[in-house]
Amino acid sequence: MKIELEKYDLQKFSEGLRELEIDLSEKQMKQFMMYYELLNEKNKVMNLTAITEFSEVISKHFLDSLSLVMAVEPEDLETVIDVGTGAGFPGIPLKIAYPNLKITLVDSLKKRVDFLNEVILKLDLKGIKAVHGRAEDLAREQKYRESFDLCVSRAVAALPVLSEYCLPFVGEGGLFVAYKAKDAEGECRSAESAVELLGGVIADMVLFSLPGTDLDRALVVIEKEGHTPKAYPRKAGMPEKKPL
Ligand code: SAM
Repeated sequence: MKIELEKYDLQKFSEGLRELEIDLSEKQMKQFMMYYELLNEKNKVMNLTAITEFSEVISKHFLDSLSLVMAVEPEDLETVIDVGTGAGFPGIPLKIAYPNLKITLVDSLKKRVDFLNEVILKLDLKGIKAVHGRAEDLAREQKYRESFDLCVSRAVAALPVLSEYCLPFVGEGGLFVAYKAKDAEGECRSAESAVELLGGVIADMVLFSLPGTDLDRALVVIEKEGHTPKAYPRKAGMPEKKPL
């Protein structure tokens, strides 16, 4: 697929990137546009995202995913896991913008993982893999358990449930960052004891407006201070059925 950047109105994207202080090369811009095209094409035959209009994909998917920089310096990290990545958010935009990151994308829906593998291939991304499975099962496998510098997750579950999915993947001293809307304070309060039980501590909640919009966002930053006890995550489905 040949991408001609002149065909796209990139003003909003460029302004948002400037606000986030992210510099992208022409190659990276083209990768973003190719991702947009693949997303749109596949969305016609399967349910990937309700957001399809170009400028909305730019702000609500691409810039929103990249807003991680409001809380974390991606350059300081090596390994990242994106739990419940769906059509690839935030993991794929992070990989395009920060190609040195080693990223693992996880989703329990096989069709979405197949789509992600197509994106990885067509964008020629290296050091990224898409894994089909439930977080609760994968986090019990030695190769994934407590082996990431950072776990990210957006729009997957409420924080008490999400913490049980995500914290077991994070190594001691690492971080779990949950992408949330502005009303995350209540969620943080209700997740405090679960986070502690799982070896973490809620360290920060970074509030900001999504670049170019008046949409409020929050990044909840959880530090992994100790190990997650072996009993967690509980078997698939339990975190959701009986949140800690
Ligand atoms: N993170 C993406 C985004 O922000 O656009 C997708 C959000 S979508 C609403 C939630 C995704 O999480 C779905 O693709 C679903 O299959 C996946 N998911 C939900 N529970 C999961 C679990 N326990 N393990 C792995 N994936 C899960």
